[in-house]
Amino acid sequence: MQTKLHNYNHTKIIATLGPASESSEMIQKLIRAGADCFRLNFSHKNAEEFEPVIQRIRGISKSEDSYIPIIADIQGPKLRIGRLPVEGVILKDNDTFTITARDIGVGNAQEVETSYKNLSKDAVIGGRILLSDGTIELSVEKISDTDISCRVLIGGTLFSNKGMNLPGAKLSIDTLTEKDIKDLKFIAKSDIDMIAVSFVRSAEDIKRVREIIGNTRTPVIAKLERPEALENLDEILEQADGALIARGDLGVETPFETVPYMQKQILERSAAMGKWVTVATQMLLSMVRHNRPSRAEVSDVSNAVIDGADAIMLSEETAIGSYPVSAVEAMVKIAKEAEKNMQNIPPNIDAKKAVFSVSAAGAAVSAAERLGAKAIMPLAGSGLTALHISKWRPGRLILALSANESTLRRLNVLRGVIPVYLEKHMDMENQIKIADQFLLERNCAIKGDTVVIVAAVPLGKGAETNTIRFHRVKGA
Ligand code: PGA
Ligand code: MN
Repeated sequence: MQTKLHNYNHTKIIATLGPASESSEMIQKLIRAGADCFRLNFSHKNAEEFEPVIQRIRGISKSEDSYIPIIADIQGPKLRIGRLPVEGVILKDNDTFTITARDIGVGNAQEVETSYKNLSKDAVIGGRILLSDGTIELSVEKISDTDISCRVLIGGTLFSNKGMNLPGAKLSIDTLTEKDIKDLKFIAKSDIDMIAVSFVRSAEDIKRVREIIGNTRTPVIAKLERPEALENLDEILEQADGALIARGDLGVETPFETVPYMQKQILERSAAMGKWVTVATQMLLSMVRHNRPSRAEVSDVSNAVIDGADAIMLSEETAIGSYPVSAVEAMVKIAKEAEKNMQNIPPNIDAKKAVFSVSAAGAAVSAAERLGAKAIMPLAGSGLTALHISKWRPGRLILALSANESTLRRLNVLRGVIPVYLEKHMDMENQIKIADQFLLERNCAIKGDTVVIVAAVPLGKGAETNTIRFHRVKGA
């Protein structure tokens, strides 16, 4: 397969792999449908169990001639209830229901255990406990050393191991659990491109992840799903390489009606601070069961694109759904249409970030606009200049050449960026030649068209971005 280009969607698509999509056949189909990145959800597997999946993705992306990064999403302190009968238990409105730290084995309609031993400390009388993604609501009536007795406010059928949220409570549990630390140590040694950290509360959480993995190269993405994260948004964005708007838990931890506004704010701050950001969860949820999205979902995806998300993410839709390929195809169509029609209002990039690469990116984008350039071409080692160009959402091809496969994979999640492989590190003149060839071969430009190049000269020496050069495409 050739790198996708013609009328390509600039907003990148992340697909979560799971039982419905982990086979080689499905991975290939998802890449062909337009998936740019895969997410591995460490809530459902241990690190070692992912090893074959990682190998499979690497093998297939190579044969598909694409650079598909892998995001490892670590579970974090997701609170869960314990076991219940397989058919579940029915909680009726006004029933009493106890959550206990005692070891009771399989629970029943009166009580269930939890492995979270601090629940008695963190719960407050009159506070809410939400179960199963907020579909069941309890009010805390009595707290003992081990037991929290609750009144059922909104009942429903409850199944084993469902999630438990205490909206508004300050949890005493660490952001990184023992499992997370074990997983991070495995991730540090394996072929993973990015790490997403669940339930981040402070910038400190991100620092700890970096300490555990022991390198600064792997991007660390903060999943914003706790109210504290919103309070500390700027510090977290400053410390992290990007953000994931985790609307699933966020809409349970905070009133769901506040999520759309928070999403807009996070997108705006991420643009201002030059940070990568993705919108996630329930984007095309009805496609778990149906092969067409609801109109509201189409509108949601479209608005995320218009509001400047760098990537949009699928969870259950591709992990356990019946139509993973259709879900990716739907996202491609919606993104293209939104990008075609959106007004290109440049984002409000924060003055504080007026470092060379940010200013060069802004100048290159405005020159490209004036010149009607067919492509903008960052020539920089780490991909930082490509990120900053991409954050301006120029709506034109951003061609990023690199001889390093891990850099190419990271570039693949940036909005509008197409990574192109260089056989070996080359000087500027030769890189421009390769780019000309690429543009002509893919019919992206004709002889004489303009390309805007942004570079850190001398190349490959760790210089700051300092050069903008205009170039006319030369014929073969
Ligand atoms: P999860 O995170 O899929 O790991 O729960 C995303 C979310 O909460 O939205
Ligand atoms: Mn979550």
